[in-house]
Amino acid sequence: MPELPDITIYLEALEKRILGQTLEAVRIVSPFLLRTADPPLASAAGKKVLQLRRLGKRICIGLEDELWLVLHLMIAGRLHWHPLKPAPRPNLSTSGANAGRPKVSPPRGLASFDFSSGSLLWTEAGSKKRASLHVVSGVTGLRSLDPGGLEILTATSEQFTARLLSANHTLKRALSDPHLFSGIGNAYSDEILWEAKLSPLALTQRLQALDIQRLYEAIRITLTGWTDRLRAESAGQFPEKVTAFRQGMAVHGRYKQPCPRCSTPIQRIRYADNETNYCPTCQTSGKLLADRALSRLLREDWPRSLDELDLLISQKRQ
Ligand SMILES: [Zn+2]
Repeated sequence: MPELPDITIYLEALEKRILGQTLEAVRIVSPFLLRTADPPLASAAGKKVLQLRRLGKRICIGLEDELWLVLHLMIAGRLHWHPLKPAPRPNLSTSGANAGRPKVSPPRGLASFDFSSGSLLWTEAGSKKRASLHVVSGVTGLRSLDPGGLEILTATSEQFTARLLSANHTLKRALSDPHLFSGIGNAYSDEILWEAKLSPLALTQRLQALDIQRLYEAIRITLTGWTDRLRAESAGQFPEKVTAFRQGMAVHGRYKQPCPRCSTPIQRIRYADNETNYCPTCQTSGKLLADRALSRLLREDWPRSLDELDLLISQKRQ
């Protein structure tokens, strides 16, 4: 799922292309995409884009009259930019309202937002359609979609510590919980924990003050470092290569490959729909987390999700 660095780069690319432009039409072909009925989507047509904003892992397009389009890409949703082509000579195949606009082809194509400058095409790979569009009104409407995670890049270390210790979770779960922290998911939580040299399964309320401070700094280093890097890579182009598995990541998606710090093969903890990657030497004093006690604990009841794993571990250690 695109996380804070990817969403930031999407927003910067969109600002350059649609800020001040008029949204002429929205073409939706996926019946599952739009999750709100009021205000109607049709009321967005003809309005100018006044601002863009990130809300957790969502992209918010602010139009005139306090109208907001809120896009949640989920795991496989991606955005693509098609500049408006100059009007072609009229003939049968290119005339009509959508002349010069990209086709939205299901099942991959979900929708197209047609601006005066070009079209923002929204696609989603795979058969599970999870991406969502909400149309809301004003700050109150936006707030209703805010999971409430702390914005770590603007939070003080005291605010961060208070939020981290507000519940006793494994670090992996705490960092990727959108109700606790904003914009972090499975990929960057792996990278942050490697940077901080902390175990993904350490319990938050057992951490030492020094560990918490290192974690706070690791989050800032990882998120700003990757945002800078992705900005440099996109080099002013629209970001078309958004993926959770980036070349240059230290541990995420790098099972069995050498840790860039100590060369130990990266390990993983698997659950049904995902996995967590870590370096045993750097992060867990050499311990293999999916080994021995944990696998005994989990053998009969392998967790289906990170939440279940979190629950099993906090019960076991209390
Ligand atoms: Zn290492």
